[in-house]
Amino acid sequence: MSVGMSFASRAKQPKQKRCDRCKLYYPESLDKCDHCSELSTSQLAQLKAQHQETLQDNSTFGKYLLLGAVIIGSLLLLDFL
Ligand SMILES: [Zn+2]
Repeated sequence: MSVGMSFASRAKQPKQKRCDRCKLYYPESLDKCDHCSELSTSQLAQLKAQHQETLQDNSTFGKYLLLGAVIIGSLLLLDFL
């Protein structure tokens, strides 16, 4: 195997399937989703809610980051005046 080929195979993601139940990805080698196959319907709802929260947290964090950058930017600007 050449170096180029081993690099290509390493860069390639393992095949993944998207679960219809929890919408998360799991390896195609498994016949059941490893995220939700053990969960009951209510536990699954909880998992989805958590997943949703994480996404929202990330976008809030992004906004704060942007706000921080704007504040720092205006402070720097005020220093120059
Ligand atoms: Zn699943």
